[in-house]
Amino acid sequence: MATVGSVREITRQIQSLDISNKPTSARPPFHSKQPSQTNVAKLLTKYAAPNPSYVPGQNIMKSAKSAAPKAKPQPHMGTTSVNQAVDIGHYDGGLELDNEKRCEKISAEAAQELALDSSNAPSYPTREWSLHEFDIGRPLGKGKFGRVYMVRTKTEPKYILALKTLYKSEIVAGKVEKQVRREIEIQQNLRHPNVLRMYGYFHDEKRIFLMLEFAGKGELYRQLSKYGCFSEKRSSRYIDQMADALAYLHSKHVIHRDIKPENLLLGLNGELKIADFGWSVHAPSQRRRTMCGTLDYLPPEMVEGKEHSERVDNWALGVLTYEFLIGKPPFEDRKSVNNTYRRIMRVDLRFPPGMSAEVKDLIARLLQHEPQERIALTEVLRHPWIMKYRPMDCNRGSETY
Ligand code: ATP
Ligand code: MG
Repeated sequence: MATVGSVREITRQIQSLDISNKPTSARPPFHSKQPSQTNVAKLLTKYAAPNPSYVPGQNIMKSAKSAAPKAKPQPHMGTTSVNQAVDIGHYDGGLELDNEKRCEKISAEAAQELALDSSNAPSYPTREWSLHEFDIGRPLGKGKFGRVYMVRTKTEPKYILALKTLYKSEIVAGKVEKQVRREIEIQQNLRHPNVLRMYGYFHDEKRIFLMLEFAGKGELYRQLSKYGCFSEKRSSRYIDQMADALAYLHSKHVIHRDIKPENLLLGLNGELKIADFGWSVHAPSQRRRTMCGTLDYLPPEMVEGKEHSERVDNWALGVLTYEFLIGKPPFEDRKSVNNTYRRIMRVDLRFPPGMSAEVKDLIARLLQHEPQERIALTEVLRHPWIMKYRPMDCNRGSETY
């Protein structure tokens, strides 16, 4: 088993690598294919290839049995610590099971719309990928349109990823072909440490596969459910990362519009990763809907169905800060959605005792009825409550997006 120390080391090395096919100087021509995999390989070097000879006595997982011969140290890998085996767990056969159940044919027009392959992406095309190139490990979760698995590339160097499947017939049934296509293309062009990376995508007759950064510590929602709420320090660290990621997204004219704990994942070092781009706008998460309605994170302008700007995310950041600290969103009313609606419209914000003056100030500045009066993300990054807990070696806030 990789130790915590070696996992940290691996993560550090991963973070210093770029797995995209991002051209270093000129952009590749439209629809061009990349001849070599070197950059993809670098991008995907999340962890080293399993190498039993480095970890004697280790329980080698089923999926690794089919793995290619011993990992040769790659020039960019540096130390042998990268060559620790990472257990991707056991595959449950879910993809085959799903294929039997979820296999309705789609129309030729929809098939064309959903023929998504990042090797044809206009910007940053990748190499061509297919399902055969991965060892499938443990299930990570179930999404609206299919399952998510921990996987490893079969070829050296072996990268660990999350592979998310989307059933085309269900996308068509939900009438979200265009949105799915757009969101995939958007997410693949985003590069920020707190935005879940998409390394590539490919498809077969029935499914689309998204190659996603593996978020080692899973859902933030689970942590919040486990602990009830977070300390001010932990919350401030998360909100700092959120504000930075949102400032980056807004600079790219991307509005998330569905910020909430369910859409946040945690990396191996506990760093926050924004996931689920805009999907939920079109298909709200079932979990919260059944739990307490879908209004909790919506700002007054969206609740009223008015036009909205990127400032909807600033509002949601205020709601998130409150939920981290108190364990429930500020305008929640489990009995009556109408009441939540009224409370949002009136900005009926009540702070329970025990919250610091600094965080109350930040929340109140984010939860302003008028979008333009909401504190800017650059100011959030300089806010005393954020600065107070930011680690010394973090120079966040100096970037201009
Ligand atoms: P939902 O409506 O339930 O949110 P969804 O279609 O948005 O569904 P995801 O949230 O992306 O699907 O994936 C379902 C679950 O799989 C997540 O809640 C999470 O537990 C797990 N998961 C998804 N992506 C990753 C990842 N990159 N790393 C680790 N786990 C992941
Ligand atoms: Mg989700």
